[in-house]
Amino acid sequence: MAVLPIEMLGSEVLRRRAVEVAEIDETLRILIADMFETMYDAEGIGLAGPQVGVSRRVIVVDLQREDSQPFALINPRLVESGRETDKAEEGCLSIPGVGAAVERPDRVVVEGLDTDGHPIRMEADGLLSRCLQHEIDHLDGVLFIDRISPLKRRMVLQKYKRAERAGGASSR
Ligand SMILES: [Zn+2]
Repeated sequence: MAVLPIEMLGSEVLRRRAVEVAEIDETLRILIADMFETMYDAEGIGLAGPQVGVSRRVIVVDLQREDSQPFALINPRLVESGRETDKAEEGCLSIPGVGAAVERPDRVVVEGLDTDGHPIRMEADGLLSRCLQHEIDHLDGVLFIDRISPLKRRMVLQKYKRAERAGGASSR
């Protein structure tokens, strides 16, 4: 297993639509193991393929709670979104050191495959719902800064650039 370099804001792969995984093979399993290691190393709770430069539809999630289990999801799809929304602070390992409150549907239903190729259906609310939406966004080339107001986005980006210039933004 290996900690992979994380793609940062400005990297083209973060803006591309990732391709469906056609075959769950050893290469993909190694990628998933490496993505977990990379996520834990960066102290994140979710990571998507494009964030490690791999434009394939795979995510890993670990909310790091006693009642939660780490999991990988292949070709995840949002099949239902709740009508209610909630707003909470988000950060991103590809835009370290900054965060913003993002409004999203409060609950979602997501379908995909596990690492054995078995179909999974997850109903999620709270942090898990938010995390799944954030990671699936990555597979479509969307970042959380795209989901906030232009004014707020400008502020976040200014802060990010300042931190970057100051030499190495602290990650979260
Ligand atoms: Zn992210």
